[in-house]
Amino acid sequence: MHYRYVIVGGGLAAAAAIEGIRSQDADGSILLFSRENHLPYRRTPLTKEMWAGSMKLEDLAVHPEGFYESHKVDVRLRREIVEMDSEHKILWDDRGDSVGFDHALLVTGCRPRRLQAQGADSPSVRYFRALEDFLALEQSMDHIQHVTTVGGGFVAVELAATLRERGKEVTMIFPEEWPLHRILPRELGLALVDYLRSMEIETVSGETIVEVIEEGNGIVRGRTYGGNTLATQVILVDQGSEAQVDLAEAANLDTDDGIVVDEYGRCSRPGFWAAGDVAEFPYLALGQLERVEGAEHAEKHGFCVGANMAGAGTPYTHLPLKWFRVGEQQFEGVGELHARLDTEDGLGGRRPRGHRVLPARRRRARRAAVQRVRAARVGARADRGSAPDVARRTRGADHAG
Ligand SMILES: Cc1cc2nc3c(=O)[nH]c(=O)nc-3n(C[C@H](O)[C@H](O)[C@H](O)COP(=O)(O)OP(=O)(O)OC[C@H]3O[C@@H](n4cnc5c(N)ncnc54)[C@H](O)[C@@H]3O)c2cc1C
Repeated sequence: MHYRYVIVGGGLAAAAAIEGIRSQDADGSILLFSRENHLPYRRTPLTKEMWAGSMKLEDLAVHPEGFYESHKVDVRLRREIVEMDSEHKILWDDRGDSVGFDHALLVTGCRPRRLQAQGADSPSVRYFRALEDFLALEQSMDHIQHVTTVGGGFVAVELAATLRERGKEVTMIFPEEWPLHRILPRELGLALVDYLRSMEIETVSGETIVEVIEEGNGIVRGRTYGGNTLATQVILVDQGSEAQVDLAEAANLDTDDGIVVDEYGRCSRPGFWAAGDVAEFPYLALGQLERVEGAEHAEKHGFCVGANMAGAGTPYTHLPLKWFRVGEQQFEGVGELHARLDTEDGLGGRRPRGHRVLPARRRRARRAAVQRVRAARVGARADRGSAPDVARRTRGADHAG
C-alpha cells in the first residue's frame, strides 16, 4: 500500500495539516495514524470548559466526523507507528502492517515527564494529557474529596483551580518557589500562588513526592523530599512534557529538544516533515531554534507544514501565542518566555515600541498578565504574519517537497 501523504499522530497539528495539504493538493492520497481512540480533538478544554460544563465531549473534535471522508482522508485509529525506514520511505504500525509514502508528517506531540519516586507506578498516580485521562478522572470524581498535584506545569495549575471550583480539596506541591518557575517572573509567580491560595488551595513550595504508599480504602500517602507525609486520594503529576522523538531518532532524523526542522517544516531527511509540539523549528523573529508547546502554534504550524508538503513553499513566520487559564486569570505570551524577561501588565496599556503586549480584557477571564519577550529581537517588525529579516539558523533546503 502506498500513500502520497502519511500523517503520524492524531492531534491538533495533524488536523490542521490536512487542511494545509488540501489547500494545495485536492486529490493526493492521505492516511492518518493515531494511537488514540478518537479523531483529532482539542486538549485545551480538558482542564477548563469540560469541568465547568460549558463544553461537552462532542464539542472537542477539531473537525466533524464527515470532514475526513469529504477531504478523502483514510484514518486508522488505535494504531501506533512503531518503526520507519527513512531510506525506503516505509513505516510499520503495531499490528505489523506497512505503508509506503512520498511524504510523512510527524506530529507525535509530547508525553508527560514521569514522577521519579518509589511506588510511582501506583494506580493513584495519574498523568493528564489525553481525553482518556479526563474521562478516567471525571468518572472517579464522586469518590474523591482530596487531590494532590505534583509539579509546577500549567496543567497542574489549571487542574488545581478547576477541581477546587468543583468543590474538591486540593494540595499543590511544586519544586520551586512558584509554579511555572521557568517562564513566570517572581512577582507574577508569587501573585499566582496568592491567587491559588485565595481559592483555598493549599500550596507547598520547594517540595516534591519521593515515595508513594498505597494505604487501601482509596487513600494513598505521599512522602515528600522534606520528610513530610500527606494523605490524599489522587496524585496528579505535571512536571512538564517531553517531545516524543523516539520514532524520529530511530529513523536517523536530527533531533534535539524535539525533531529538528527548517522553516518549511522539513526534517533532516527527504520526505520527512514535523510540526506542532514535537518540532523544534527556526523561530525567525528570535533568530533561534525553539520548540513551542501550545494549541495556537500547533494549528498554525500544522497548516503551514501540511501546505508545504504539498508544495506551497511558505516559511513559518507566525509568532506563536502561548496561553493558559487559571480560574478567572488568563496568562498569555509570545516570543521567548523566560522568567528573567520583562513582563507587561496587559490591562489596557499601549504597546511600547519593541514590546509585544497583548490586548487586555475578555468578557469573563481577566487577562492579568501578559508576558513579553525578547523585545529588542522581536521588535517592531514582529507583527503577526510578517516575515522578519533576521539571522536564520535553518537547515539546507535541498529536498523541497
Ligand atoms: C490538558 C491540556 C491542556 C492544555 N491547555 C492549553 C492551553 O490552555 N493553551 C495552549 O496554548 N495549549 C494548551 N495545551 C497544549 C496543546 O493542547 C498542545 O500544544 C497541542 O495539543 C499540540 O498538538 P500536537 O498535534 O502537536 O500534539 P498532540 O495534541 O499531543 O497530538 C499528538 C498525537 O499523536 C499521537 N501519537 C504519538 N505518537 C504516535 C505514534 N507513534 N503513532 C500514532 N500516534 C501517535 C498521540 O497519541 C496524540 O494523539 C494543553 C495541553 C493539555 C494536555
